[in-house]
Amino acid sequence: MAAYEFYTYFAEGWEYFVYKDLTVERPRTIEKDFPFLESLLRFTYLDIWPMEDLFKKMDAALLNFYQKSDFDSQAVVMSTLKKLAKEHIYFEFLRLDWQSRFRYIERHPDKDIQKHLPHKQLRHIPSDIDTLQKQIMRLFEDVLDIDDGKKKPVQEKLKAYLQREKNQPLYAYKFQPISTTYEQTGEGTFAEVLHPTSIYDLVEFSLRECVKREQRMRICSYCGKYFAIPRRNTAEFCNLTVDENGYTCREVGARKRWAEKKNSDELFKEYRREYKKRFNWIKAGKISPGTFYAWSATAKGKRDECAAGKMSFEEFKKWMAES
Ligand SMILES: [Zn+2]
Repeated sequence: MAAYEFYTYFAEGWEYFVYKDLTVERPRTIEKDFPFLESLLRFTYLDIWPMEDLFKKMDAALLNFYQKSDFDSQAVVMSTLKKLAKEHIYFEFLRLDWQSRFRYIERHPDKDIQKHLPHKQLRHIPSDIDTLQKQIMRLFEDVLDIDDGKKKPVQEKLKAYLQREKNQPLYAYKFQPISTTYEQTGEGTFAEVLHPTSIYDLVEFSLRECVKREQRMRICSYCGKYFAIPRRNTAEFCNLTVDENGYTCREVGARKRWAEKKNSDELFKEYRREYKKRFNWIKAGKISPGTFYAWSATAKGKRDECAAGKMSFEEFKKWMAES
């Protein structure tokens, strides 16, 4: 029997992860929820190669454990998995799963240790994830991106995406069988629930849902990463990436747009003020109409340059004052 519970499901635009470590004295059910697709998106953009050393370390510790069945080697693997679990919810599953495997071997020392604690499975995770990340990214680009300029149905695009696999091995994500149950969830409603057997089941479950829903994806104008947009939504910025001050792209983007608009309002005000002032100079006989119109044509050009960001507002004001 597994020494944990772990399951996930989708409900009302949210994804839920529920888990319980049964090896501790008072097992506590932990429930985490994220907006739909957040865990898959974070997984897709996970910077996996800097973590490779952690997987190598666990591999070495496991080989040692095969020889000695010592507590220290097990502790190395488990403390490393604990560290990884903080990086992504899928690794929380990995941690619970491996903890359960160690527990099983402790209780059944006669069993095949390499079969129950397959070191290669851990060792290969970084390259497996790297391949998956690229395949998922191509699925977003080829099938779900709503800004791709193609008016083709999602199903047709999916077919083309999967067919590219023929000429380019590892191009497309290959859908795998997973086993789900239909049961009542914490919210009281029934949903398809996945009790994963590997982290790849979790990827499969999310990707399937994504394609089933024909989830629209867009590249965030601020961080350049894909995010999921609800129907009839025109969101331009994601709510996923957070800057060093704790603001999401949506917050930063909204402020940036507002600041740009404010700047542009001031720019046009400045231009109109100067225009009126100089127009009155004609009546006062200070300048000729020809001089005025020549000035206004140049000033309009400068104003548009400034609005396009080719010149700063300060430079524009300086030019106005000196012209
Ligand atoms: Zn973003």
